[in-house]
Amino acid sequence: MANLNTQSIQAQTFDAIVIGSGISGGWAAKELTEKGLKTLVLERGRDVQHISGYPTTNMNPWEFEHRGQIPLEVMKENPIVGKCYAFREDAQHFFVKDKEHPYVQEKPFDWIRGYQVGGKSLLWARHTQRWSDFDFEGPARDGFAVDWPIRYKDVAPWYSYVEKFAGISGNKDGLATLPDGEFLPPFELSCVENYFKETVSSQYKDRHVIIARCAHITEPQPVHIAQGRGKCQNRVLCQRGCPFGGYFSSNSSTLPWAAKTGKLTLRPDSVVHSVIFDEKKGKAKGVRVIDAHTKQLTEYYARIIFVNAAALNTNLILLNSTSKRFPNGLGNDNGLLGKFVAFHNYRARVSAEYDGFADKTTDGRRPTGGYIPRFRNVFKQETGFLRGYAAGLSASRGNDQKRDGIGASLKENLLHPTLGTWRVGSHMMGETIPKETNLVSLDKSQKDAWGIPLLKVKVDYDENDEQMTRDYIEQLSDMFARAGFTNITSTDSKQAPGLDIHEMGGVRMGKDPKTSLLNEWNQLHLCKNVFVTDGACMTSTSTQNPSLTYMALTARAADYAVKELKKGNV
Ligand SMILES: Cc1cc2nc3c(=O)[nH]c(=O)nc-3n(C[C@H](O)[C@H](O)[C@H](O)COP(=O)(O)OP(=O)(O)OC[C@H]3O[C@@H](n4cnc5c(N)ncnc54)[C@H](O)[C@@H]3O)c2cc1C
Ligand code: SF4
Repeated sequence: MANLNTQSIQAQTFDAIVIGSGISGGWAAKELTEKGLKTLVLERGRDVQHISGYPTTNMNPWEFEHRGQIPLEVMKENPIVGKCYAFREDAQHFFVKDKEHPYVQEKPFDWIRGYQVGGKSLLWARHTQRWSDFDFEGPARDGFAVDWPIRYKDVAPWYSYVEKFAGISGNKDGLATLPDGEFLPPFELSCVENYFKETVSSQYKDRHVIIARCAHITEPQPVHIAQGRGKCQNRVLCQRGCPFGGYFSSNSSTLPWAAKTGKLTLRPDSVVHSVIFDEKKGKAKGVRVIDAHTKQLTEYYARIIFVNAAALNTNLILLNSTSKRFPNGLGNDNGLLGKFVAFHNYRARVSAEYDGFADKTTDGRRPTGGYIPRFRNVFKQETGFLRGYAAGLSASRGNDQKRDGIGASLKENLLHPTLGTWRVGSHMMGETIPKETNLVSLDKSQKDAWGIPLLKVKVDYDENDEQMTRDYIEQLSDMFARAGFTNITSTDSKQAPGLDIHEMGGVRMGKDPKTSLLNEWNQLHLCKNVFVTDGACMTSTSTQNPSLTYMALTARAADYAVKELKKGNV
């Protein structure tokens, strides 16, 4: 019997455990296995294999029972996820349904989640802009949050490292606010976007319009071919899962790469309950896992643990990892775990029309759009609000198709659509300020179907966000007017936080264990063999999309963790 136990403990023991198989967990798996560590990836959701796991990827529009729409009753059952633009008939199976995974909204918060192998890497819009020193130095300059323990130069080589492997398209624009990367050829701006770019450069010294950088392979390199991935075909059906591996996802890229090393064990349907702290050794020894179906509890053991369950779930797991030494959650002596959560302000849009270029239109599709990098409060504080916003931009032309007439005349009208006016759209991407009062905690009485406390979310906008939203509307309207665009309209959706899908913080990095949870290597100050490299680690939020930074920080931390392991320091 004793022998049997030893054997089962051995079977449950690895060099490293990674919690979560999404964008950041996939990178942790790749790096740790490549460096020779026998690695267990625990994923609460079902397995999704690259290609065979994408049931809708090759379906024609008429093959969908509801022609792509979500039926009303499903919308009613899913008031939260139903608000996400990508929750459509072709991709709904990759989203968490509201009823199955409840949480407590102390304030309205639309928490959009993907629980499966690959996580939200199957759903993301693939925008990958590097952060700059204006972002990493922001808190030190404004004093609105704790100083980052790192700067752009610390992450730059790791940005390059992950960009080359993932495949990022973009143009080298030479902008201080948006450092250039290792780019594959860029997609193109449309003629109206290009015209707007020229107008903006001629009228403003510090404002720019560029093609957004995105995780699509426009010219496969040997490293992409070795992954079995090919060129993006511009189908723009990415949210169904791409059979060509045209965009970066964990499923098509990092996870199969990790599997090829022979060092990976991937365990789907494994809900991590908590990290186990070994009181004698003063470090973590493993994790408690509940089988998603049988609800059976198992323990797995390892020398290092990477927590990559996506920002808020990582907070949940650490808050739930209580022990005699850490009664308030792992590494949480300062009581800051779960606090200083922040997000992005995506509330406002400005739209317009343009009468020019009447003889031109766009050709084909494009899986990305234009981008206006942050221009507010960059070199000096010039507004009443702190920090700034970037904006997405697109200008395209639809068809005006008459649908009246009957018989031959109807057919005639349908067959001869005319080009509509150019429509220009922009949406804001604002930085929000991490505050102690924006926090997540565990509900004391309510539990989920696996006996884990429900997460309580209390996160809100503030006056800074209101001012920033007004400024975005004013500035973009003004920029559009200067370009001669007409019918300029703006909307403030007043959507709840969360729908931006860029929640961050709660386990922030910092220099001082008194004011932060993680050090400059994403290592818990007080439990050195636990690393947090997803959005939970972010000290501030920048205006840029965050996932590329999670990838770079993960690769950097994994490199450090393995070196420390070899030195016997963790
Ligand atoms: C529609 C949409 C568009 C987006 N567009 C962009 C974009 O353009 N650019 C950008 O940078 N970001 C974008 N994002 C955000 C991006 O998807 C996330 O930032 C990114 O996926 C986060 O990576 P992650 O590894 O932290 O989490 P995820 O990719 O969500 O992976 C976390 C994994 O952990 C698993 N997990 C959670 N809890 C547990 C547990 N207890 N036990 C075991 N496993 C667990 C989950 O099931 C999941 O698979 C978008 C997201 C969505 C939904
Ligand atoms: S646009 Fe590119 S990445 Fe997206 S589905 Fe098409 S081929 Fe794949």
